[in-house]
Amino acid sequence: MMQKILDDVFLLTVPIPYDFGNVNCYLIKGKRGYTVVDTGDYTEEAIAVWQKVISEGLVVEKVVVTHAHTDHIGLAGWFQQQFNVPVWMAAKSYAELNKIRAQFINEKYFNPHALFLVRHGGPLFRKQDNRFHQYKSYQFDPDMVFDENEEIPLGDYSYNTIWTPGHSPDHFSFFNEKNQVLFVGDHILNSINPIVICNGEGDNPLKDYLQALEKLMQCQAKYVLPGHGEPIPDLMARIELMMSHYQKRWNQTYDAINEQGSTAFEVSQQVYGRNLSQERAGSAFYQTITNLTYLESLGQVKIAEKEGKIYFYQNS
Ligand SMILES: [Zn+2]
Repeated sequence: MMQKILDDVFLLTVPIPYDFGNVNCYLIKGKRGYTVVDTGDYTEEAIAVWQKVISEGLVVEKVVVTHAHTDHIGLAGWFQQQFNVPVWMAAKSYAELNKIRAQFINEKYFNPHALFLVRHGGPLFRKQDNRFHQYKSYQFDPDMVFDENEEIPLGDYSYNTIWTPGHSPDHFSFFNEKNQVLFVGDHILNSINPIVICNGEGDNPLKDYLQALEKLMQCQAKYVLPGHGEPIPDLMARIELMMSHYQKRWNQTYDAINEQGSTAFEVSQQVYGRNLSQERAGSAFYQTITNLTYLESLGQVKIAEKEGKIYFYQNS
């Protein structure tokens, strides 16, 4: 089940309980065992995959995570508690984990963005009761935290920690210059543009995302290994394609705003259609808020508030 990617890098794809199907967990071989980059969700299916490779003799030295989304950190606590494996994460991810944990205590399983989404014209999402794995994913504390632009060991090599916010505010990529290996998490995927999530008013995550993309463009990376899907064979070509896709989306988003003003939810239905699964409609809605916020920061779109809701207008 472990697939060899490079001499010292192996891939284990672990099922996740939603859309993408799988998350890529990388295992980097070292003298003291394997460093695991990202773990999968806290689900029985994911645990079964790990248990199998561990029963076959896999020794895990430590777990390192790219960001605090459940498909990436979900089993970090499980590794720590079951096998005494130390967990490393960015200080920013630890802060994010603490924030999410506090939300679970206050309003168990409630979407913390609910009121923000209502202000953007969306429906009031009901309390979610199917998120046990999310709750479980956050029940641990890291053994080691790192900041940006530090060197951390993955296997026997040293990797630079690059802060790449956008997909999530705490997202990190890891780069080894000598071997030209870049673990890029969910910042760049090979077949789709990853969702860039706006977490609240005042956020402009797409601006952060694009700045982080520029940082990655400085990396002379030959092996670009993402959190989902296939490796990225040509980083610059992939970024170029992503940018042309964004340009198209920004145009569609701008054109979807009507003269009386539109909420982000209306724009999202116009751009992405109305017949999406709840999950995809949710992603489309988040991405539309992100795109409109970015266009507003460029001066292409204006914002006004009416009866507690946020409306966007073309700035012609
Ligand atoms: Zn992910």
